[in-house]
Amino acid sequence: MKRYFYALLFLFMFLASPKAGFIDAEAYAAIGSSESYFKIAVVRNASKIDVSNVDYNASKEYCRLFERNKIAKNFTVSVSCSGGSLAVNGKKVGAASVLIYPKKNSYLKINSKPYRGKFLIKVDSGSVTAINHVALEDYLKAVVPSEMEQNADIEALKAQAVVARTYALATRGKHKAAGFDLCNTTCCQVYKGVSEENPRTSKAVDGTRAQVIYHSGKLINAYYSASCGGYTESVEEAWPGALAVRYARVIECPHCKKDAKMSWTYKISQEEFVRKMRKAGFAINGVDSARLYDKTRSGRFNTVEMKGSFGTLYYSAEIFRKVFGNNNIKSSFFNIVIDRPKSVTKNFKFNEIDDIIKARNDYNNDLLNGHITFKGSGYGHGVGMCQHGAKKIAASGGNFRQIINYYFTKEVNIKKIY
Ligand SMILES: [Zn+2]
Ligand SMILES: [Zn+2]
Repeated sequence: MKRYFYALLFLFMFLASPKAGFIDAEAYAAIGSSESYFKIAVVRNASKIDVSNVDYNASKEYCRLFERNKIAKNFTVSVSCSGGSLAVNGKKVGAASVLIYPKKNSYLKINSKPYRGKFLIKVDSGSVTAINHVALEDYLKAVVPSEMEQNADIEALKAQAVVARTYALATRGKHKAAGFDLCNTTCCQVYKGVSEENPRTSKAVDGTRAQVIYHSGKLINAYYSASCGGYTESVEEAWPGALAVRYARVIECPHCKKDAKMSWTYKISQEEFVRKMRKAGFAINGVDSARLYDKTRSGRFNTVEMKGSFGTLYYSAEIFRKVFGNNNIKSSFFNIVIDRPKSVTKNFKFNEIDDIIKARNDYNNDLLNGHITFKGSGYGHGVGMCQHGAKKIAASGGNFRQIINYYFTKEVNIKKIY
């Protein structure tokens, strides 16, 4: 009997050990709870990364590097890259990557910022990258407060948690080629670690644990933006070439439509406009007139025509957001107003060719003293859930399911997947 006991004990230790070959500890944990683990890059291509709060016992390989290279274990070490190898406190350690675990009941700190989960620090084309291996629910606890204000009504925060969870699962692997699932910026979802967490948003994550949005048996691409400006945009009109889907159509949003605060104006001098456009590679001078074309069903325009001494040029509306910043031109839901210069050349008597050139130059100089004004509404691409509307629906008593069904249509359903 005793022999069987020892045999079982040995088998148990073998299976439980992370080094037990057959099954990785992470995969083992994932099977147990069925919760997904994500790889999120939090520092990319840095010259060095400061690492602290490492559990040296759990991080065996890391610990060995210190011993082998006779490096004293500090609370904080600086990891950099030296000729294809990691360097610890400036000393090349002969390893290209290292997996580190946090001290018990604590968090690893990367550049002084605490994160849940463990980290892979690796050499990445002559620099270092830190990839956080984190459970999906833990990841969301830091994402939700970065994507919606914590003082929003709890049902709006819950809708945000479900949407962010669905988005993470549906876009997982976006950066697969670079060796991680998602990055920590608006390219994927903003993720800044434990210091962002707060009890209200964590409650919204816990209260919707494992719930995600499905349509026709598939996870949806759960897009969201800060404010739709009155009408959400369909995915295929926001991003030409994207596949049209029934859950991301144009939806009227009375919450943004009624709210004057959702309108914005961006006025820029023609001189600055020209300077910035030229810097971005567009051969343009002062703009005489602008017209908008290719109106989408939501009322946004896709194409801007600009005329001037440079001729006639056509731009995608999104280009202006890139050149002048998303915080200045908050959406592509805008109109353009051009101040015409006061000098009028119509009644001018042209006697000599020089007069014509002078008049034209004067006009162009005057033009540059004028302004171009973008007048718009909404903030962001406008596809999917409108966060402003979600907050308004929640504030008037709606729950997170009603919010999701409003913006992604009644055809979607919310399922608990683990
Ligand atoms: Zn990304
Ligand atoms: Zn809206």
